[in-house]
Amino acid sequence: MRSVDVIIVGASLAAAAAAKRLVDAGFDTIVMERLSLPRHKICSGILSPRGYRFLIENFGPLPRETLHEPTSCRGVTFHFPSMVSLPMDFFGGTTPHLHRKYSDYWAIQRSGAEIMDRTSVVGLEDLGNRVIVNTRSNGVTEQFAARYVIGADGPSSVVRKALYPDYDKAIPWFFVGQKFHEVIECPLDDAYFHFWFHPELGHYTWSHARDGRQIVGVGFKKGDSFDKRHAIVEKYLDEKHGVKLKPADADREGCAENFGPSLINRYVFGKGNMLLTGQSTGFLNMIGEGMSCALHSGAIAGESVVASLCTNKSVQTLYRQMIASEVTRTSDQWNPLKIAFDKPHEADFPAALMALPWQDRTKVLRDIWRFVVLYKEFKWGRQIMASSLSRLLRGRYPPQKWL
Ligand SMILES: Cc1cc2nc3c(=O)[nH]c(=O)nc-3n(C[C@H](O)[C@H](O)[C@H](O)COP(=O)(O)OP(=O)(O)OC[C@H]3O[C@@H](n4cnc5c(N)ncnc54)[C@H](O)[C@@H]3O)c2cc1C
Repeated sequence: MRSVDVIIVGASLAAAAAAKRLVDAGFDTIVMERLSLPRHKICSGILSPRGYRFLIENFGPLPRETLHEPTSCRGVTFHFPSMVSLPMDFFGGTTPHLHRKYSDYWAIQRSGAEIMDRTSVVGLEDLGNRVIVNTRSNGVTEQFAARYVIGADGPSSVVRKALYPDYDKAIPWFFVGQKFHEVIECPLDDAYFHFWFHPELGHYTWSHARDGRQIVGVGFKKGDSFDKRHAIVEKYLDEKHGVKLKPADADREGCAENFGPSLINRYVFGKGNMLLTGQSTGFLNMIGEGMSCALHSGAIAGESVVASLCTNKSVQTLYRQMIASEVTRTSDQWNPLKIAFDKPHEADFPAALMALPWQDRTKVLRDIWRFVVLYKEFKWGRQIMASSLSRLLRGRYPPQKWL
């Protein structure tokens, strides 16, 4: 059986960041990816400025093939049921519109780790001094041993399932799907990512330009109909915003997402010699921005393992200490009190809000309140408010159930 220092499951951005730290520190690191690389990844690809800085500082300038057209994004426009629209530029300038298939592959290659693609991790056993990793590749099963395993395997993480078998049942799951349309007429500014705070449209509704098409995306609780939800949004965009689109192309796509954990400050970090990072941990910022926290949490997971290997201290203790700032940062992004009175995001919501006439300001705050707290399908209104108040009054979020 082959034995290495660290196996990272998944070849995404969290994995690339973790691998970079481990390889730089001289540790033997394998990244295992179930798909053939470069692999497709459903994503809008709008990287936050903080994520952009991380990529440049750690992996260098982005090659052209890692970008979609338009190649950059100025910011986000929020749209509200009261028909107030709020464009907000990112702090620090435009950010890249990543083509995840190529950006992730570029980053993982530049990490310097050994890459094994078409290799699914199908089972894990922590023996105390090492973890046995069972893989399947082209129908062939194999075993590896690693001193540490990092699960960077996204929302449906197999590493998380091995460590917390009940967790997936305890959190709400959403479906997000997007369709691509040829444009007849589109007044939405293509320099911005557009997001609707509109309970009747769904939990997560977005649109933006990509490679000559307009993306129309919808997110809703699992079980509802993608086509039905999409049709409602398409009609709304036409009637309310004058967006005229041709029927959707055939290449629609969708996936299950664990939106809830950041919203109610509930993350999972791992046990024994296994860590979770990126979206498998629950890191996902508001409006579904998950790349910057995947990169940063991935780097912190890698640093925690390096620190543990160098000092013999518990990797779990180190990781929890080092990840605390990322947890607070991510939870703050969902915190309605932080959003209203502080600047937890990378675009200036308070300034954009204050630039509106006071009647519109009231409408926006009322619409956000209805969306986050009164939205009838949300079961977490009280938890969100308790958690937000704790952060305001005590400076920290309440202890977590799943630590
Ligand atoms: C529709 C949509 C739009 C989005 N838009 C944005 C956006 O504009 N900006 C933004 O920042 N974020 C966006 N996100 C979120 C972002 O894509 C994720 O948060 C981010 O990719 C998480 O990165 P990760 O490294 O944690 O894992 P992932 O990117 O999910 O990657 C996990 C990897 O693990 C692999 N894997 C899974 N299981 C196994 C296994 N058993 N063995 C081996 N490999 C395995 C997968 O194939 C995958 O390559 C969007 C998400 C969706 C669904």
